[in-house]
Amino acid sequence: MSDFSNPIFHDETKAREWLETRIWPNGPVCPHCGVIDEATLMTGKSHRPGLYQCNACRKPFTVTVGTLYERSKIPLHKWLAATHLMMASKKGMSALEVGRLLGFSRKTAWFVCHRIRESLRETNLTPMGGEGKFVEADETFIGGKEKNKHVGRRDKRKIGGMGKEPVFSLVERGGKVRSQHVANVSAKTLRPIMVEQINKASAVMTDDAGQYRHMGKDFARHEVVNHGILEYVRGEAHTNTIEGYFSILKRGITGTYHHVSAAHLKRYLAEFDFRYNERESLGISDAQRMEKSVQGIVGKRMTYRRID
Ligand SMILES: [Zn+2]
Repeated sequence: MSDFSNPIFHDETKAREWLETRIWPNGPVCPHCGVIDEATLMTGKSHRPGLYQCNACRKPFTVTVGTLYERSKIPLHKWLAATHLMMASKKGMSALEVGRLLGFSRKTAWFVCHRIRESLRETNLTPMGGEGKFVEADETFIGGKEKNKHVGRRDKRKIGGMGKEPVFSLVERGGKVRSQHVANVSAKTLRPIMVEQINKASAVMTDDAGQYRHMGKDFARHEVVNHGILEYVRGEAHTNTIEGYFSILKRGITGTYHHVSAAHLKRYLAEFDFRYNERESLGISDAQRMEKSVQGIVGKRMTYRRID
């Protein structure tokens, strides 16, 4: 947490100014009419700090209108501080811990962390991979009782209803991961996701589970590793990248969050995917990751007012 001393995490004005330069690199944008850099900062004592009036439509606005922070009573510097804490910790940080560090109630901390996760949700779903690129696809199961954690692959498919939630992920080697909480791991569920989200020119790598059979015609190449006979790597054919990701995801979720409800699993997946996609080994610093995450607050106003 080396840069936690940054004033943007402790001072409301500094936080707002920082946010304005990130959200409005070309000057204030009116959220009502879309006009750029045609607004007047209202300086009178009766105005809230950071209030602008649009010179075109005359309506007032601040930098948080239309963002996940809109109408929040939580000071901006605390939003930024919470984001920093979540982005700088490798395995995630529990709401309890974030709350303790920033002086939030349990309920507020939970709310803030979920909103931040929402800002991390990837909205660009253009197909992954391409010519000469490798995309690995695999499923895993999150949560559930300890005694169910060591069941065989065949049984796993049946036990979604026992508290283990199926997660399906795609990862491009050397690139990004994309995870989704799925209803089940049947071919009927997974194939449309693969066809839609993987570029047809890619080489697709899976294990030998039944749901991946007959995928060959959908992609330039489909290689299968036969986990059934303990084969894990055959030249370029392996799923080690996705399995490495799953181990980070599972260690993080069980170690930090202990229990993740099915209703919120997609938000945790967004958080882990985001941190992986903006990872240190790609040369991305904690500060850069945090800046990138803040871009995601725009246009993602929660559709519900309360999430508890
Ligand atoms: Zn306007």
